[in-house]
Amino acid sequence: MHGKSKSIDEMSVRELAEYWYVLFNRTVLDLNLNVQYTKAYCLDLAEMATEIRRIASERNLLLLDHYYVRPEIQKTCHFVGDSLGLGLKAQELVQNQSGQITAVWLSAVRFMGDTVKIVLGDNIPVYMPKFSGCSLVASLHGVHFDYRRHSEQETSIKLLEKPQSEHPIDVWFKENPGGIVLSYMNSDVESKRKSWAVFTSRNALKVLEYAMKENPGKRVYMLPDQFLSNFVLEIARANNNPWIKPELVDVFEGMCHVHAQKISPFALDEALLQHPDAALLVHPECGCAVNCFIRVAKGLIPRPTFIGFTQEMIEYAKRPDTPHEIIVATEAGHVFTLRDLVPNKIFYPVTSNATCEFMKATKLEDLYNAIKNPDWSNYEIKLSSETIRDARPAIDRMRANA
Ligand code: SF4
Repeated sequence: MHGKSKSIDEMSVRELAEYWYVLFNRTVLDLNLNVQYTKAYCLDLAEMATEIRRIASERNLLLLDHYYVRPEIQKTCHFVGDSLGLGLKAQELVQNQSGQITAVWLSAVRFMGDTVKIVLGDNIPVYMPKFSGCSLVASLHGVHFDYRRHSEQETSIKLLEKPQSEHPIDVWFKENPGGIVLSYMNSDVESKRKSWAVFTSRNALKVLEYAMKENPGKRVYMLPDQFLSNFVLEIARANNNPWIKPELVDVFEGMCHVHAQKISPFALDEALLQHPDAALLVHPECGCAVNCFIRVAKGLIPRPTFIGFTQEMIEYAKRPDTPHEIIVATEAGHVFTLRDLVPNKIFYPVTSNATCEFMKATKLEDLYNAIKNPDWSNYEIKLSSETIRDARPAIDRMRANA
């Protein structure tokens, strides 16, 4: 738990409702969550959260969630993290409390649940209240979304193309036998299973270099985020990296709709114009912030800028020598975290529309209903032992280069 000194387990339902009413109305009103945190609603949420925590304590459950999910879920769970952090934290906690944690419940998108399951292996069940997708992962299967904002409150996201049946990696392997695949963390379990290594936004360059060093002369397929992959190649070219041969690398043309249609270069320029004294913080977590990541790395933003993961962002924001106003270039969930933990500074989302519908699809009610259900089988992440075994080396190579 982050935030107040009294933990959620020590508060009465009414105290929790009052705390959340004040907190959420201070921190998320402009984040386009399509919900009003009225006193009555906060009381409902507090009742559900208290019951979820009671069941978690009674059954020794570990509740995890991602920073992009709704704030009330973040405040209910034991640990909130980014996609890599969730897997690592789950492993650490499960190992440290050997035998005590009986199951993990994760609120996030499906590929994150798969990663936690791969890291934890067969020993412990992993459940999700909802198996939400991700537009970047869906683009691997030829599925593209069209996002539209109709008004301040109303947005829509619709499917544009039907999925294709053959996995793009299989198609590529037919033309490139003996090649190797590197997949971004934000990919499906099939990609991870077929990959030589997985990478994150932060270690993409390092993993590509390592892969080309270890597999000289082999063709490489990077996927699914075309912006991140092309950016890494551009950096390698600019630095004359002796190991990376861009002519041997093929890039899959996938994208995240939040990145492509929401946190665009235009939105960033607009935010910089509106807040001339603000610093810029970029979290390289998802496809959504890659645009900003690229411009910052190229030195194109004439402002104090900082790229870092959540804990580093919080430490940067807390420092007395960093600007009082800060634009946050990533999904709106991080704005909530920063406003919660650093109340003396002002944080602006790069656009009030920087929300991922897939991450917001899980509601506290879903977690509550799922955990209260006597039969959890429909919520379990089921991966075969072979899939876990095959996917783990790629994850291990990512961790070795973290
Ligand atoms: S922000 Fe983009 S990459 Fe991240 S979960 Fe949402 S759709 Fe996927």
